[in-house]
Amino acid sequence: MLRNAYRAAALALFLVIAILLNSAFRPPPENPFTDDMDRSVNPGDDFYRYANGGWLKTASIPAGQATFDTRAILAAKTGQQVRSLIQDAASAQSAKGSAAQKAGDYYASFMDEGAIEAKGVEPLANEMAAIDAITDKASLSAYLGGTLNGEVDGLTANGDHVFGVWINQGFEDSEHNLPHLWQGGIGLPDRDDYIDASPKKSEVRKQYQAHIAAVLKLAGVADSENRAERALALETQIARAFAPDEEAADVNKQNNPWKRSDFAVKAPGMDWDAYFKSAGLAGQSDFLVWQPSAVTGVSSLVAHESLDAWQDYLEFHLIEHYALVLPKAVAAEHFAFFGKILSGAQEMPSRDSLAIAATNGALGQAVGQLYTQKYFPPEAKARAEAMAADLLSAFRGRITNLTWMSAPTKQKALAKLAAFKIFVGYPNTWIDYSTLDVVRGDAFGNMRRAEAFNRSRNLARLKEPVDPIDWPLNPQAPGAVIMFSPNAEFFSAGILQPPYFDFQRDAAGNYGSAGAGMAHEISHSFDELGNIYDAQGRLGAWWTDKDRDAYHALGARLAAQMDSYCPMPDACVKGKQVLNESISDLAGLQVAHDAYVMSLKGKPDVVVGGLTGEQRFFLAFAQRWRRLQNEAALRKQIATDTHPPGEYRSDAVRNLDSWYDAYKVIPEDKLFLKQDLRVRIW
Ligand SMILES: [Zn+2]
Repeated sequence: MLRNAYRAAALALFLVIAILLNSAFRPPPENPFTDDMDRSVNPGDDFYRYANGGWLKTASIPAGQATFDTRAILAAKTGQQVRSLIQDAASAQSAKGSAAQKAGDYYASFMDEGAIEAKGVEPLANEMAAIDAITDKASLSAYLGGTLNGEVDGLTANGDHVFGVWINQGFEDSEHNLPHLWQGGIGLPDRDDYIDASPKKSEVRKQYQAHIAAVLKLAGVADSENRAERALALETQIARAFAPDEEAADVNKQNNPWKRSDFAVKAPGMDWDAYFKSAGLAGQSDFLVWQPSAVTGVSSLVAHESLDAWQDYLEFHLIEHYALVLPKAVAAEHFAFFGKILSGAQEMPSRDSLAIAATNGALGQAVGQLYTQKYFPPEAKARAEAMAADLLSAFRGRITNLTWMSAPTKQKALAKLAAFKIFVGYPNTWIDYSTLDVVRGDAFGNMRRAEAFNRSRNLARLKEPVDPIDWPLNPQAPGAVIMFSPNAEFFSAGILQPPYFDFQRDAAGNYGSAGAGMAHEISHSFDELGNIYDAQGRLGAWWTDKDRDAYHALGARLAAQMDSYCPMPDACVKGKQVLNESISDLAGLQVAHDAYVMSLKGKPDVVVGGLTGEQRFFLAFAQRWRRLQNEAALRKQIATDTHPPGEYRSDAVRNLDSWYDAYKVIPEDKLFLKQDLRVRIW
């Protein structure tokens, strides 16, 4: 888990995460819309620069960065809010057991490097002794079972133990939570890193082996060089058992229901009774095995590899796992490999940013409570919920009126929409941390206890109903997550901040920015990504071939529109590559516009700063896409990203008649599209 701090989370098709921080952040002034505009530009010629020209001229990319946009600014803003809250909690004398005490003491202990240094690697002693005490396959299996934890989920598949478990509803059973078992246990990012014979990858493997030796040595393990070699050899075998990346990302290949009794038959070697008993899953009868080859492979390695090799491997991963709460030299070695060599980072993140991240990770909803009390009042939640309800009504209207979707498919789409849930801000019921003891001065113990707490809380969900759905992100994390299974979408309090969303501002700006973002995500549950999941989040494709053909025919028109955007003579947007996201951008804008009109309940909107409500709606949409990026970043985005550059996302307005009306756009204007070239898909 630690190493995830230095590398991007892997995306599984099971879920789609979207961080929607593209609105511009400014302190909310009298008129939030007009400050950054360039009114000398004709909106019909260049709407993006009309909306953002002032900002584009005055903002600059921070040193060392390739891009600068509201995502970066809002992430920094929310990050600073969370930092202050946790640091204030650490210096306050809060009541024992309160959210503030736990978060504050967790942070303070992590920051207390003196206490950590004084303890040395002694906190590892019990666990190291447990590894030493492995004498046969049964005790090895029992030890491995004890490491099965919830460090993976539908978004992050990089657990540092041989298997990870994620508790979620089944692929075909939406009534019960099931343990989803994932492959894990490799330190390098991918299976390929162990297999690829290129000089570059071989060199990284050499450096990794040196890192393993260094870590073992720092923990006082003798003969570290030879042990590192053995550990890496075993880890390479584990990696070979992994599913290849294409397969690991294919949801139909992940849907492997195994009965408890299947393990011994399909994956002999492991003492599965011992394994599941110590994993806390002794009574569990049904499992979903995402990558069967990994379970089979690891189990066979338990039978056939030497216990010595297993012990070397386990000791290394144990130390690595706790590197940041062990003496400085261990944390520095961790960064030297995972930060510098693997990720190219030059400087280790500051201790306090690591401490903030660790506190958010261990006590996410305790920090979330502090955050929402201060930054997301009930009124904000109520307004965001009202907007979400309008968006769902608007999308219902859109589906009802579709001409490309057949009637039976429409019924399924409407049923899926009726079951669709949008959660905003924070969970209605917070995680109860009362059984988690956070002790000031005990960074290692706090981390261990938090892991154990989260593990037993996860496993307890096996006996609980699927609903209420567990929040997949922290309220204070500025982001949004759409889940296909279950059928739901989450917008955190951290993202619903001004000016992306401002509960004190009029509707036009909110619907044009956050509203269009929410609707963009909703549309994914019904498009080519989401149409393989039904209303209950079960696997089951519900489009017909005819629906798909008609959708593709409409999509081709939008792709052609996107193809025409060329920020440089030799670099044009690739319509096909960005099509899926562009369709969602357009859907988001159209649905949000319908919802905005609906929110007015027939009354005309007021004029603010000389702008009508219609004008402010489209302006807010264009402003959320503002972005500065250097040429290399722009070229890279065009070459590889499934999202087009912000300017062209903002140009989705060209497809809406209301935009032409709002800004009196005429055929002579550069952005003007004839009626038959305006695309409508949803
Ligand atoms: Zn999207």
